[in-house]
Amino acid sequence: METNINEIFELIKKPLKEKEKKIIIKAYNFAKKAHQGKKRASGDPYFIHSFETAKNLAGLGVEYKTIAAGLLHDILEDTKVSKKMLDEEFGEDIAFLVKGVTKLGKIRYQGSKRHVESLRKFFIAMTEDIRVLVIKLADRLHNIQTLKYLPEKKQKRIALETLEIHARLANRFGMSKLKGELEDNAFPYVYPKEYKIVEDLLKQKSHVSQKYLEKVKKSLMKELAKYEIKNIKTDYRIKHKFSLYQKLKSKDMDIDKIYDIVALRIIVPTIEDCYKVLGIIHGMWHPLPGRIRDFIANPKPNGYKSIHTDIFTGEGGIVEIQIRTYQMHEEAEYGIASHFIYKEPKTGGENKVTKEKMSWLNQFKELQAEIEEPNKFLANLKMDFFKDRIFVLTPKGDVIDLPEDSSSIDFAYTIHSDVGNHASSSKINGKFDSLYTKLQNGDMIEIIINKNSHPVSKWMEYTKTTLAQKHIRSYLKEHSLIQKFNPFRKK
Ligand code: MN
Repeated sequence: METNINEIFELIKKPLKEKEKKIIIKAYNFAKKAHQGKKRASGDPYFIHSFETAKNLAGLGVEYKTIAAGLLHDILEDTKVSKKMLDEEFGEDIAFLVKGVTKLGKIRYQGSKRHVESLRKFFIAMTEDIRVLVIKLADRLHNIQTLKYLPEKKQKRIALETLEIHARLANRFGMSKLKGELEDNAFPYVYPKEYKIVEDLLKQKSHVSQKYLEKVKKSLMKELAKYEIKNIKTDYRIKHKFSLYQKLKSKDMDIDKIYDIVALRIIVPTIEDCYKVLGIIHGMWHPLPGRIRDFIANPKPNGYKSIHTDIFTGEGGIVEIQIRTYQMHEEAEYGIASHFIYKEPKTGGENKVTKEKMSWLNQFKELQAEIEEPNKFLANLKMDFFKDRIFVLTPKGDVIDLPEDSSSIDFAYTIHSDVGNHASSSKINGKFDSLYTKLQNGDMIEIIINKNSHPVSKWMEYTKTTLAQKHIRSYLKEHSLIQKFNPFRKK
């Protein structure tokens, strides 16, 4: 298998400056050389993976540094190239992205539901720059596309992790195209039987729906031609398999209750056009009562905008039509990545991050409104949503979230009260350290237990969690009671 750098350039939407192009070429040659001789499980040269990751990124519309970092993303992990070398060759910004992706690589999803949310938060908290997360997702997409070459046991873990973590993060940031691809590639490994059912249903149903849609589209375009709406584009979207499966589950697996297996999309220049088109459609066909959803007036929490309506086509068929502007279309497909393409209008005021505490999504939306330039947007998106929380790891890679300034004692009690009550020392990132040391984001903690160890009153000063303090207090209370009634106890 050969790689050709032009495949990357062909996918880039925004014209590149000569200087930017040169950096991508440099990263391409550098990574190709560094990974030389190494092979993937598929038998392909390792560099194919870096190359495909960069192609995924180019398709998302990210800027050139992110693409360069995508080419280099496994270089620290898998080759002899050092951080210093990367800094010198590519500058701080690209090196920072590569280091960020490398750092994210160390956690493993253990399949325990308990930690899914923490793991997602961990990803975001550790992602000081949203581009790191986008690279990680593009990397995962290629890994999941080549999953068949891995041993079966690994396949399932990685596929499940992709559904639980990566796809949901992509969704949270509005990258619905990427989310759909991650899910549909992971789906058959996690739920093979269900995948088969959905695939068969899709085969049976989608061409029928498409036939209805074709008719609707023809009459609609004819009608729209009478009005002054220029530059209308139509498009079909076939529902992604995993999202169809989830919808089927909520409809007793009855495919006849699902109207949007295939949907017709109408893309127009302005919001005004959207409502005009909606009016015209409802003048031609009866809408299903209660099935008009205006996500332009009320966008979804991840920022999704469109108008959806289901109409009776007159022959017993029901089809869904989605109406949106070009910009909404771009944003719906690429989410946060679309901000690399579009400049948001200036909203005035200073471009600063509000420190007010609110849900991270609100904060995210607020940031979006404050953007002046895509680059500033990125700088501002450094995730201080979890300012007062830290995320640390167990030796197995489970994620535990704790208040800032927590110690190993807090960590120990979060694991189990017995672990806390008998903690004697702590290993932080593999090195012995005091139980009192303040933990940092991303630390891996191992508690050494000794059955003769027990809490002392000083521990209270070094704990932040009420859980730990409660256990320490009750231990001390019990302990002092024993002392009181045991005159023979040595001091
Ligand atoms: Mn990789």
